[in-house]
Parts: sequence; structure tokens; C-alpha cells
Amino acid sequence: MSDASTRIALIGLGNMGGPIGSQWIAAGTAVTGFDLSADARAGFEKRGGTTAETAAAATAGADVVVLLLPDSRIVDAVLDDLTASGALAASSVVIDMSSSEPEHTQRNARRLAELGIRFIDAPVSGGVRGAETAALTVMVGGTGETVEEMRPLLERLGTVIHVGDAGAGHAVKALNNLLSAVHLWATSEAVLVAERFGIDPETTLRVVNGSSGRSGSSEVKWPKFILTESYDSGFAAQLMLKDARIATGLAAAVGTPTRLGEQLVDEWSRAVDALPAGADHTEIARFLRETAEKAQEGRS
Ligand code: NAD
Repeated sequence: MSDASTRIALIGLGNMGGPIGSQWIAAGTAVTGFDLSADARAGFEKRGGTTAETAAAATAGADVVVLLLPDSRIVDAVLDDLTASGALAASSVVIDMSSSEPEHTQRNARRLAELGIRFIDAPVSGGVRGAETAALTVMVGGTGETVEEMRPLLERLGTVIHVGDAGAGHAVKALNNLLSAVHLWATSEAVLVAERFGIDPETTLRVVNGSSGRSGSSEVKWPKFILTESYDSGFAAQLMLKDARIATGLAAAVGTPTRLGEQLVDEWSRAVDALPAGADHTEIARFLRETAEKAQEGRS
């Protein structure tokens, strides 16, 4: 499948859909997008994409239909709509790049296969910056032949790893984000404790980043989005909670306890309730600072 001959329909033009679509447009591929939000559609047109008024209209005539939607409930509803309207061509491939629930993904692969439509899951990590710079990790679930056919398209976005059958990409994505959430929470607590002891956050991070406690949270998120107080990574706290819940749900389904993960879900959910709607996930650090300040006021 060559860049110039492929026609992509892209459903979901938000923080990730926009820059991912841009990479394909830059490679000479025709991309028609759809999003419920008029602002998102206008943003995508500024990137050089074409937009349609409905998901079905965007999909008509597409070889590859890419979904970059908030969650499985919405992915399932969009696929219901596309199959009911007959918009998906029998030879087409649907790629769910959202961070979805593995069990839904397995079901979607089965129901599309019954219609002769191929389906793979290809969620990503690396955030908005990774999408803008084609430095994403793309973790793919699906049959080898379809994955290989889609590989050139996905390699436009970064490094592609075929992790298993349908749903495997979504499983490993959720587990990665559970780890990422734990790292951000624990790093934030450590930085705040050190600060209370008189060590400034920059110094703590210099030490951690030269030591075994380092992670993406200490190396990128704290310096870039938290110390600067910009809190604009482009990944919502609510979406991280969704991913952590998918991971602990998966753990329960396979009978493997994740006690730290379950606690993370409880704590993170309390933080999301306290933060403004739509808050960036890096605002967890601000929530923890405010919680610590209230605890200190209570003690004095
Ligand atoms: P986002 O909220 O910025 O974008 C989602 C878009 O989907 C929105 O523009 C919304 O209007 C649109 N939408 C919702 N329902 C729709 C429907 N029925 N039809 C068409 N459009 C609809 O979210 P995002 O940050 O771009 O994340 C998209 C997916 O990628 C999520 O599953 C998320 O967990 C995952 N993800 C995000 C990041 C990140 O850093 N932002 C990184 C990796 C994975």
C-alpha cells in the first residue's frame, strides 16, 4: 500500500488525531477527517486535511479507516454507525488507534471479520509531542498479514511493534499507562517531600534523572509541564484514569492482582473529581501539592 494511492478516513481529530493525520498528509496520502467538534474539523483543515460532515461520509471510498476516539464506548458506537450505514468497503481495513478496552477490541475484530472487513488495534504512546515529531511507539494487535500491509502507514508515525492478536495492542497500552500514572504520582510525591525538607525540585530531579528513580515523568513531564506550570501536555487526567481502569480490569479478568494499580485508580479518581473538567494529567502534581499544603495547615 503506497502513500499516494491510499485513501485514509480519520475519525477523531483531537489532540492526537490532528498531528497523526498531519504525518500522513505530509507523506502525500489523502486524508478525509471527521470529528463531532467543528473546531477540531477546522483545525484539521488548517493542517491540510479534508473534512466531511459525518463519519460515514468521511469513510466512503476509504481503503483504511482510522479511529482516534476517547474510549471503547464511542469506538463501538462509531463502528455500529459505519456498519449499519454500509459505509465500510468490504476490502477496507479499520485501525483502532484509540486507547480502547481489549475485550471490546476482540469483539470488534470478530464482528467486522464476519462482514469481510479487516481490523487491527494500533494504540500509541509518546503523546502529542511524539505525534508531532513522528516519534510514537505504535503497538499493534492483529493478524500478521494485515499488520504487515499496514506497517508502512504506521511507520510514518514512529516505531511499530507487533505485540500479538487483536486486543493485544490495547492490553499493553493500558498496562504502559498504568505504569506511567504510577510513575507520575510517585515522582510528584517524592519531589514534594524533598521540597518540604528544603531541597528544591530542580535539584531533586537532577539527582533522580541521574539515578534509578528516573522515568518519563521525571525526565520529561516534570521539567516540561509541571516546573513551568504550563500543564499542557495535551493528555487529559480523565483519559489516564480510563487507561488505568482498563489495566486493572484486565488484571482482574486474567486473575492477576495489581494491588498498587488498584490503589492508583482510587487515588487518581479522587484527584480527577477535585480537578476542573478537562484538566491535563500533569495537573496531578498540582493536586498533590494542594493536598499536601492543606495537610500542613491542618497540623499547624
Ligand atoms: P481528544 O479528546 O483530544 O480527541 C478526541 C476527539 O474525538 C475529540 O475531538 C472529540 O470531539 C472526538 N469525538 C468524540 N466522539 C466522537 C464521535 N462519536 N465521532 C467523531 N468524533 C468524536 O483526545 P486525544 O487526546 O486525541 O485522545 C484520543 C485517543 O488517543 C484516546 O483514546 C486517548 O486515550 C489516546 N491517547 C492520547 C494521547 C495524548 O497524549 N493525548 C496519547 C496516547 C493515546
